[in-house]
Amino acid sequence: MESKKSFYQAFRKDVEVLEFDKRYLLDQVEAWVYEKCISSFDEMSNVSKEDIGKLKGAFSLSILEIINVVQSKKDATKKILFKTLDAHAIESVLIPDKHDKSFTLCLSSQVGCVFNCTFCATGKLLFRRSLKADEIISQYVLSQKLVQGKIKNIVFMGMGEPFALHNELWKALDIFCDKERFAIGERHISVSTIGLVDKIKEFALFPRKHHLLISLHSAIQEKRDLLMPNMKTKPLSELKEAILFYNQRKRKEVMLEYVMLEGINDGDEDAKALIHFLKGLDAKVNLIAYNETGYEGYRSSSKKNMVRFKTYLERRQIEVVQRYKKGDDIQAACGQLAGEMIDEAK
Ligand code: SAH
Repeated sequence: MESKKSFYQAFRKDVEVLEFDKRYLLDQVEAWVYEKCISSFDEMSNVSKEDIGKLKGAFSLSILEIINVVQSKKDATKKILFKTLDAHAIESVLIPDKHDKSFTLCLSSQVGCVFNCTFCATGKLLFRRSLKADEIISQYVLSQKLVQGKIKNIVFMGMGEPFALHNELWKALDIFCDKERFAIGERHISVSTIGLVDKIKEFALFPRKHHLLISLHSAIQEKRDLLMPNMKTKPLSELKEAILFYNQRKRKEVMLEYVMLEGINDGDEDAKALIHFLKGLDAKVNLIAYNETGYEGYRSSSKKNMVRFKTYLERRQIEVVQRYKKGDDIQAACGQLAGEMIDEAK
């Protein structure tokens, strides 16, 4: 890692000690960094070489490097491959909005993932480390420069488990939402967790209005254990208790993610168990078509089974959202991130 402090982590007072000639220069620099999303101070065309030199001497903006961008043939979805300073590869996905020219950015939180869900491609990679706040921010900054439209929404649904980041996640969220910095609306950021109960409770106390998504995938303990073997230590009963705590503390619902796997979690007994789990909770269900990864022989549920499952829930007044599939032609859909390029990139 570079030893210089990143500009994103600097406070105004850290920058002011550089004593620029012009009083308004700091405002200009901040506009370049937070609005124009520059990745090098050299890009600031209205700042003198001397002042750029001062900034470069004190702070860094180069945290990640883009090494490849893959464009979907179906729409404007892009998968971006980044290299970290210690030569690991991570990926983000830019997803176009249906209604305007804006984008949603799906960010990675770790190099690989500590939790090996048996159906997820990222879990098959060797886990290297969690990302730092700056590396999270840098995915946003570099991605924003690739598109004309604004990135309006950020979802922590790329590689890895965001709640395994501890303080670095809170730091990144602070920098994204700080009105003096990127000023992204709190409700425009969603965090998806495998279901770390302690962290869900901590998040409930975090004074922000982000959305919380939780990967459930089965409300039958033995099945969930097979799909998510590393969650055996956090049984469904504890997860439910944590969600209740979140609902009450935040007065906010959660979204339960449920990836539909043919013959595994898409039957009537699975729907019944889900209804039972949902009792007393303020939660919506997000049914996700499984994106094939080529591992473990899992297949996506048939359309018929998905409709049947969805109808079963809706008849019981459960709100169901179906995730729109994007980027599957470039292996950029949920759970498909990382793959072979990781090794090629190093
Ligand atoms: N660690 C976080 C973020 C993971 S990715 C979590 O577990 O929530 C975001 C979502 O994609 C999770 O719900 C994850 O289980 C799901 N997912 C993983 N592989 C998938 C695949 N091949 N197809 C569809 N969804 C998948």
